[in-house]
Amino acid sequence: MRVSQLLNPTLREVPAEAEVISHQLMVRAGLIRKSAAGVYTYLPLGLRILRKIENIVREEMDAKGGQEVLMPVIQPAELWMESGRWNVYGDELFRLKDRHNREFCLGPTHEEIITDLIRGEVRSYKQLPLLLYQIQNKYRDERRPRFGLMRGREFIMKDLYSFDRDEAGLNESYQKMYEAYCRIFSRCGLAYRPVEADAGAIGGTGGTHEFMVLAESGENGVVYCSECDFAANVEKAECRPQVIENVVVEGERKLVHTPEIRTIDEVCGFLAVPKTSLVKSLLYQGDDKLFLVLIRGDRELNEIKLNNALGGFVSLELAPSHVVEGLLGCEPGSVGPVEVPVGLMVVADEEVPLMKKVVCGANQTDYHIVNADPSLEFRIDQIHDLRMVEPGEACLKCGAPLKEARGIEVGQVFKLGTKYSKSLGATFLDENGEEKPCVMGCYGVGVSRSLAASIEQNHDDYGIIWPMPIAPYHCIIVPVSTKDAQVVAEADKLYHELQRLGVEVVLDDRDERAGVKFKDADLVGYPLRVTIGSKTLANGQVELRERKTGETQLVSVEDVAGKIKSLIEKALSS
Ligand code: ATP
Ligand code: MG
Repeated sequence: MRVSQLLNPTLREVPAEAEVISHQLMVRAGLIRKSAAGVYTYLPLGLRILRKIENIVREEMDAKGGQEVLMPVIQPAELWMESGRWNVYGDELFRLKDRHNREFCLGPTHEEIITDLIRGEVRSYKQLPLLLYQIQNKYRDERRPRFGLMRGREFIMKDLYSFDRDEAGLNESYQKMYEAYCRIFSRCGLAYRPVEADAGAIGGTGGTHEFMVLAESGENGVVYCSECDFAANVEKAECRPQVIENVVVEGERKLVHTPEIRTIDEVCGFLAVPKTSLVKSLLYQGDDKLFLVLIRGDRELNEIKLNNALGGFVSLELAPSHVVEGLLGCEPGSVGPVEVPVGLMVVADEEVPLMKKVVCGANQTDYHIVNADPSLEFRIDQIHDLRMVEPGEACLKCGAPLKEARGIEVGQVFKLGTKYSKSLGATFLDENGEEKPCVMGCYGVGVSRSLAASIEQNHDDYGIIWPMPIAPYHCIIVPVSTKDAQVVAEADKLYHELQRLGVEVVLDDRDERAGVKFKDADLVGYPLRVTIGSKTLANGQVELRERKTGETQLVSVEDVAGKIKSLIEKALSS
């Protein structure tokens, strides 16, 4: 490809709305352009990168026996009603009606469609296992589409669904996909970690891992052990209660006037106690049910654990002040676990019952209680692990201190079990002629998000640094001057020779200053650059530069094509 013909509009300025580096660089390098919030066009170079990632994914799926299909984006509402998700998926689901007023959605995921397919086609255990996948646009009306391709509303996902006869089969399929995912992300040149994750909204009872690309801009918190292989999403990481000596307020248990003292910090400052001496009391609303949640003052509540412990609400959030005032007769900063109305369930984190002589709200506006005794005074209905893990805590597997990192979720593998096969009736007859539900798994790779994640990890001040396997082209040829006939001729010759050798090469034949061409080449991130100028050419040489290291070397005109070819082969095979 000649750069003069290539639609590759590069920009010097950082686009104002792009917060993260991958978004900035993708726009600046002319890989994508925005159509609407979270909706993008891929320009030629962006699409080439995307296709390379897709092909790596495809090869690894095929290697594990996956069969590619292509399912519809438009999905009938009836299937989602059958699975029970039509009413729980919420605002993320793009819903639409046809001219006959029939309801549909744009697929955010395809469990319903694939299970519907299987219930029609699979009769016997002999047809199982099946691993079916597709690479396709997904649609989710995300609350906050942002970070470019990282969180789009239209994005590209590979989704594979496994159908097995039993748990053992599912475990095998899961293991296969886990291995395939490791290979995919390694081949894409990403530093990643599989982490234990929460089962979340997809449901199902089995295990799940997320594949996290480690990067500062990641939206997920990850904890990992400094010694062993334990790693988990903070949403999931289990905690053990820690017992600590309370700092107590001098004197007896009593009601204390705390005027205008609302936040934890204000209470601690006013009473001169650390946060560890406080019990935080939070009124939560799960769908239309209220309950009081208790947790140590310095801890952060993990709402995912809370929702799992309470059985899974569609929506779970702090009750607004008017609800607090209506039920407890005080403003939210004074809510406490004493004299709790009958019928209001009280759920405590494991650490709360182990505390002694605590400070807590009094359920009267502007009053707190000091030296309350949780074991005697608090009516606690349920005790669970409800808090966020903290770095430095002991690993539950080996005891070494945990560390934390940020991660971008680029994939997830998930044991679904029989949730969808039961609700939609995807059954088969086993060896004994008995009807059984298929045991399912689902496995997603965020293809477009992986592209963005790769840039988060592979860039410098000048632009993107593509790992060879997913680079838009392997090599760019930069003739320093388009006025010098010998330089132009040599550049053309090398261009054709490289093409003949199967090297993916672009020739920057634009009538631009060399500096402009170098800047664009660095910005786009071609792994190799050949500079052809009259000075070196006088000695029969050209300059070969590696984008990643910045190393340059002079290579003779005769040897340069072979040298490039072998550098590429080496990079692709490692
Ligand atoms: P997240 O928690 O980031 O919203 P998710 O758990 O909803 O992701 P899955 O349903 O597991 O995502 O989808 C599989 C993969 O698709 C994810 O691992 C992620 O890489 C990708 N993905 C999900 N949502 C988006 C999005 N809005 N934009 C781009 N990629 C996405
Ligand atoms: Mg996920």
